[in-house]
Amino acid sequence: MGFNESVLICDQVDPVLNKVLKENGLKVTYEPEITPEQIKEKISNYNIVIVRSRTKLTKEMIEKANHCKIIARVGVGLDNIDTEAAEAKNIRVINAVEGAINTVAELVLGLMLGLAREIPKADRGIREKKWLKKELHGTELKGKYLGVIGVGNIGKRLARLARSLNMNIIGYDVIPIDQEFIREVGMMKTDLDTLLQSSDYVSIHVPLLDSTHHMIDAKKLSLMKKNAKIINTSRGGVIDEDALYDALKNGRLGGAALDVFESEPAIGNKLATLDNVILTPHIGAQTKEAQSLAANVIAEKIIQILRGVL
Ligand code: NAD
Repeated sequence: MGFNESVLICDQVDPVLNKVLKENGLKVTYEPEITPEQIKEKISNYNIVIVRSRTKLTKEMIEKANHCKIIARVGVGLDNIDTEAAEAKNIRVINAVEGAINTVAELVLGLMLGLAREIPKADRGIREKKWLKKELHGTELKGKYLGVIGVGNIGKRLARLARSLNMNIIGYDVIPIDQEFIREVGMMKTDLDTLLQSSDYVSIHVPLLDSTHHMIDAKKLSLMKKNAKIINTSRGGVIDEDALYDALKNGRLGGAALDVFESEPAIGNKLATLDNVILTPHIGAQTKEAQSLAANVIAEKIIQILRGVL
């Protein structure tokens, strides 16, 4: 059965999405560089609007989306979509949780290894004609304690990967963590303060909500071991960046790796002036595999919704 709904794709997405939707009869307009003004002008022409990260679908835009049935985010977080405005207009908002799970967890492993062996500093040294062999005494991940804050999809995948490197896993979540998983990775379940006090590495995997905004502030950072390292690939506002900067600058914390920032693009961020920090430009979900998986998931969900199955 073919459909004839019109679709506006606002960001760069894997071509498979376009292909599958067209194969099912949908009329797809692909505008990966569309501006907010253009969206406001055109949004009322479309039944389905698809975004990734670049486009912010604001209340003002959504209020004009008079024929829209579905808004889809080819990714996990929905913070670039005004979901309340969508709900008020009876528009379904869907995302693709599945795409990013392994990809983000693998980036965290890379960041942990980068911090443990100071790989970016070693690389910078050679480029600057400095042979830092005597300075760079790394540590192994094996046997170290990894604290996972938010044991959801990505937190669980990371715990499994880290377990295979013989790390010890500590977990904290606001909802009960299933017993089978706890047994599988030998996770020690605890409260946030104990996790921060006990971990050599802390990795954050919670959504950005009012309750998680600055959940890691100066007080929480002060609980961490002096050599401990913190990694955030979730959302920028979860860590108070000023407090993190102070803790790193004053030697109260061993290092940090961030893929997400309070303000993005994080060009000119003062954390970039510190040596014991690795910064990446929100590339957590940006692998060929993750983008293609997310695009397939969204295409499938749209077709199922139009069929009336979902
Ligand atoms: P998920 O919903 O599967 O897991 C989140 C977990 O956090 C849940 O178990 C939830 O109970 C827990 N949680 C919520 N509030 C908490 C709190 N106050 N304290 C402790 N735990 C709390 O989500 P996920 O798919 O694992 O994604 C995790 C985060 O990663 C999200 O913020 C998402 O936006 C982000 N993300 C980032 C990238 C990137 O490009 N860097 C890509 C994908 C996802």
